[in-house]
Amino acid sequence: MIYLDHNATTPILPEVLEAMMPYLTTEWGNPSSAYRFGSKLKSVIATAREQVGELIGAGPLDVVFTSCATESNNAAIAAALRANPAKRHIVTSQVEHSSVLNYCRDLERSGDFRSPHGGVNPPLRQGYGVTYLPVDRDGLLTPADLEAAITEETAMVSLMWANNETGVLFPVEQISQICRARGVLFHCDAVQAAGKIEIDVRNVPADYLSLTGHKFGAPKGIGALYVRRKAPFSPLIYGGHQERNRRGGTENVALAVGMGKAAEIVRSHLPEYGEKVRPLRDQLEEGILSSIPNTELNGHQTQRIANTTNITFHGIESEALLILLDKEGICASSGSACLADSDEPSHVIKAMKPDSAASRQMVRFSVDAATMREQVTAALSALGRETESLSCVAVRTGRV
Ligand code: PLP
Repeated sequence: MIYLDHNATTPILPEVLEAMMPYLTTEWGNPSSAYRFGSKLKSVIATAREQVGELIGAGPLDVVFTSCATESNNAAIAAALRANPAKRHIVTSQVEHSSVLNYCRDLERSGDFRSPHGGVNPPLRQGYGVTYLPVDRDGLLTPADLEAAITEETAMVSLMWANNETGVLFPVEQISQICRARGVLFHCDAVQAAGKIEIDVRNVPADYLSLTGHKFGAPKGIGALYVRRKAPFSPLIYGGHQERNRRGGTENVALAVGMGKAAEIVRSHLPEYGEKVRPLRDQLEEGILSSIPNTELNGHQTQRIANTTNITFHGIESEALLILLDKEGICASSGSACLADSDEPSHVIKAMKPDSAASRQMVRFSVDAATMREQVTAALSALGRETESLSCVAVRTGRV
């Protein structure tokens, strides 16, 4: 297998599994228990919280463990809106992950939302106004558009750090400054940036920032939400006193340990991450663009994370190519893994290039430091073979 889909998920690092093992075997207590067999695990979680905090320049108390970044994104948006019930406008972008976009779309629906149980927080009344900021053909966001979109009504801004489909980076430092200056809460989905570029919440003062472990060597099922100390927060999931009352549910000690360990490891490799993965990504990208006809890069040449390339194969349907690549043992994707079972075109590429068929004819490749040059070479040969066979079919059936 040649795995070129690290933006979808990553393998568990061996050291991570090793660190987790005691908490999957002998140390299975409940950290909230009064006796030491359980309560001693509190310090284990505290260490993991510290490790995750250090990856983003945050203190441990500002980190809330969640089940995934989808939950973190939902929790941040819900908390910001609850804190500002009078303000009924959200600003986000057309290229966010579905965990932000679909929540915003739901919030747009009109009609009152009645919680069957009443509730401590004012229930979220739907009918929000949402501005979905556009991006240009390179996937870049214009800060002036954000400035213009924020009004007196705006409760929050939710914008990502790095795009999962193209790797394109948003100007988050400028975005956070604009939000601060305008007195609007800022949530940043930093899932694809974590472990790939430096994140420091002291330089990018987001109020909320989402992470997930499985994108950087921890298992699936654990995420984190950074909540700035003075930012308003109310839980999405009510329960016990876990996570300092910010997220109910018995702590998943093993997964928290795994995410903490993974955070520590990727942080230590951060200085050389770009140098390691960029040549592999460029070998693949340049190889495709120079040897396969009718190909085009989607996304800015330089303003993107070093491991990602997104390429349109004009005249070739993404799904057909991905099936043939799968037969050759090559894993790549046509967008977010969360939407892979829908036959919708990529909303990200559609937002960038609305006038072309690129959104149905693109493939995302994402490498990591463990990807080997020989694998890239083999993938290039397979891509050459398969795109040629699909182009022949397209010519025979008159599709090009
Ligand atoms: N945000 C981005 C940018 C992502 O790429 C993903 C995962 O694909 C998510 C959020 C959701 O992460 P999770 O799978 O942990 O819910």
